[in-house]
Amino acid sequence: MSDLTTKTIAELRDGFAGGSFSAGEVATDYNAAVAGGRALNAYTVETPELALAAADAADKARSSGDTLGALAGIPLGIKDLFATEGVDTTAGSNILKGFKPQYESTVSGKLKAAGAGMLGKLNMDEFAMGSSNETSAYGPVISPWQRNDGGNVALTPGGSSGGSATAVAAGLAAGVTGTDTGGSIRQPAAFTGICGIKPTYGRCSRWGVIAFASSLDQAGPMAKTVRDCAIMLEVMSGYDKKDSTSLNLPVPRYEAGLSSNLKGKRVGIPREYRIDGVPAEIDALWDKGVEWLRDAGAEPVEISLPHTAHALPTYYIIAPAEASSNLARYDGVRYGLREDGVKTLDDMYAATRAAGFGAEVKRRIMIGTYVLSAGFYDAYFTKAQKVRTLIKRDFTEAFEKCDFILTPTAPSAAFGLKEKMSDPLAMYLNDVFAVPASLAGLPAMSVPGGLDAQGLPLGLHLIGRELDEQGVLNAALAIEERAGFTAKAEKWW
Ligand code: GLN
Repeated sequence: MSDLTTKTIAELRDGFAGGSFSAGEVATDYNAAVAGGRALNAYTVETPELALAAADAADKARSSGDTLGALAGIPLGIKDLFATEGVDTTAGSNILKGFKPQYESTVSGKLKAAGAGMLGKLNMDEFAMGSSNETSAYGPVISPWQRNDGGNVALTPGGSSGGSATAVAAGLAAGVTGTDTGGSIRQPAAFTGICGIKPTYGRCSRWGVIAFASSLDQAGPMAKTVRDCAIMLEVMSGYDKKDSTSLNLPVPRYEAGLSSNLKGKRVGIPREYRIDGVPAEIDALWDKGVEWLRDAGAEPVEISLPHTAHALPTYYIIAPAEASSNLARYDGVRYGLREDGVKTLDDMYAATRAAGFGAEVKRRIMIGTYVLSAGFYDAYFTKAQKVRTLIKRDFTEAFEKCDFILTPTAPSAAFGLKEKMSDPLAMYLNDVFAVPASLAGLPAMSVPGGLDAQGLPLGLHLIGRELDEQGVLNAALAIEERAGFTAKAEKWW
């Protein structure tokens, strides 16, 4: 790994602005790292020319003394769920093979407008459905991390933003976009020892982000540090009239607002998150997290989120229901794949969908169609919506007693590829700590806390009040400063 790829976004920005190196040098180092990292399968498309063009523009702007964009010359990877103008966008699915959007998603467009260069599109679980990146039509992403037992078992970087997580952890991008419907930013961040924040639902525009479950989907940044996440989030956030669910509110200056002094804050520890079967190391890290926050000035308080146990089943009704509706548009007529050679239009739809979707996506479409069907709608979908309201109310009540909540991010460290693919329920359990905040639309973040006995990263999870991304970032910063997490995956690829 060359020197510039080890720097944070803040260091690259400041070093570039101060003349220590050119944006061209940064882009060149990153393009080389991306090409040298193909064994990890993090990228589905590489766009070195776009990274170089943005760097060139940044170098010219610097030499002519123009004001530099917030991300001038910073090389980023973009999750393949974001539509990128003229660049293949497939959501990790065969059904979108060859789809080149004529438009740019609002979020990736904002990053571009701030001067960032795109290194390529990042591999992901098909339509963002998965927790291990193994549902991708492009094959799994491999984590740069390995267990310290010398076994060299290929581990998952988590999912669905698995390419995003591996890219940051392996130095194949300075920062990346992710999306989170039920944990897809936070769980991969935890598995790979990086930071990732899912902002409040509506903070980032979903326009041009391929829809999975529209009432839950949110974009967010993943990067090496809390500060880098703050820098990216500030650029990515903001009202967009093209997304009716985007919030028409000013975007706080997250980076300027960073402070790890938590005096006067109360951190809620939800009693229901002590779950059977979670390794003792994860519970121990959680306790350490409480101590770090106490050391930063926060007062721990026990809270109760009584409907937590129902969050996963509720999510696995609502998300597939919305997905089955959103994915109805892939019919072979408008985008990507079309299976010809059949007699009728109906046969063409069926053949295209049978060939284009993978097994997990088909499973979700079937579950979603079932829970929305006439005879079962009230028993499943309406009921799930009611439970969702109760879960949201749990948080509202908890936030009368505390300012933010601390939990582990995931119930385990990264697992081996193939270990959980045959057991969907075991896979779904990955998001047990992440999903309640998704259902409530709250901002939540994973920050690295330490390594387990196998030498694998573990994350701590902070959930904040609606719109309080700043509070979440600040608490994460307090943990980051105290955890002293500097471990990096040893290069083997
Ligand atoms: N792992 C969860 C799922 O499979 C969450 C995915 C996501 O947040 N996109 O649905």
